[in-house]
Amino acid sequence: MKFFKLKKLAGLVLAAAVVVTGVIGATGNTAEAAGAPTVKLEAQASSVTAGDELKVNVVLSNNPGVAFFSVTDIKYDDTKLDLIEIKNTGVMDGSFTGAQTLDSNPFSLVWSIGTSDDKDNGTIATLTFKAVEDTSGAANITIGSVEAFNVAFDEVNVENIDGSVTVVEKHNHAATGDWQFDKTHHWKECSCGEDLDKAAHTWDAGKVTTQPTEKAEGVKTYTCTVCKATKTEAIAKLNHTHDLKDGWKAEGGYHWQECNGCNEKVNYGKCEAGADGLCKVCGTKVETADEGTTDDGKQETSPNTGDTATAALWFVVIAAAVVVVGGTRMRKSVR
Ligand SMILES: [Zn+2]
Ligand SMILES: [Zn+2]
Ligand SMILES: [Zn+2]
Ligand SMILES: [Zn+2]
Repeated sequence: MKFFKLKKLAGLVLAAAVVVTGVIGATGNTAEAAGAPTVKLEAQASSVTAGDELKVNVVLSNNPGVAFFSVTDIKYDDTKLDLIEIKNTGVMDGSFTGAQTLDSNPFSLVWSIGTSDDKDNGTIATLTFKAVEDTSGAANITIGSVEAFNVAFDEVNVENIDGSVTVVEKHNHAATGDWQFDKTHHWKECSCGEDLDKAAHTWDAGKVTTQPTEKAEGVKTYTCTVCKATKTEAIAKLNHTHDLKDGWKAEGGYHWQECNGCNEKVNYGKCEAGADGLCKVCGTKVETADEGTTDDGKQETSPNTGDTATAALWFVVIAAAVVVVGGTRMRKSVR
């Protein structure tokens, strides 16, 4: 597992070296991976926006033990970067010199440890840069040399790895083009792809764009007062009001009026004979009650109970006739 990670790291570092060839010595990277002592400038982000700050770690690896350590002549592209802070993290023991060199370019970071070897590794200092306004492009931070000795005054060979950061031009958002919108919100787009002025629609009071009828729903359309997006809402069908045709219909002693809009028989009622024998309402001749009716639909039951038996008899005769006729048809269809 550890071997795999190491191998992966070496691969990544090598890939980075290809990108910034000439800035970083490929030997330094393989040296670090192989366990050789290295000191590396490692930006905390690969890019920084003009005007913003960026921290660069000074990272010591594979330290065999040093009593004096100097990262000498760290040089940075001061057309793109301003050095604003040098911080000793305290990882390395001894006295530190460097914080007073903010105005120098190049500058050096020096640790005088003294009577024993310090074998600590990690971020030994942090450099804070501010990217210069109105600039852009790659800014290199390089190490001139590393001088290191142990308590025995033997020189310790430490390889250095330079750093680089890309300064990105500061972008001021500007809305372009028409309003963009979805169902709920509107916004403007910036050339950088960011949505600006995004807000929920502010709908107006709405207008009836399709009047509802008795047969179909209507439509109310709302418009956003900002982006002019629209949404619609259904308006319920109107309640049906009968639109009566002129005149009356009558059948089987009953009368009614027809509606232009529906099939309902309106004002349906029993005909009532006047003195002239015509219905007082619809004007049709009213048949006498005992005549009854054989019309389909509205078969009337006579209020005169004395004739009920006669009506029942007729009903039986008619029913028998229907059976006979129906039977004949069936036989015919079978044949
Ligand atoms: Zn933008
Ligand atoms: Zn809107
Ligand atoms: Zn109607
Ligand atoms: Zn009538």
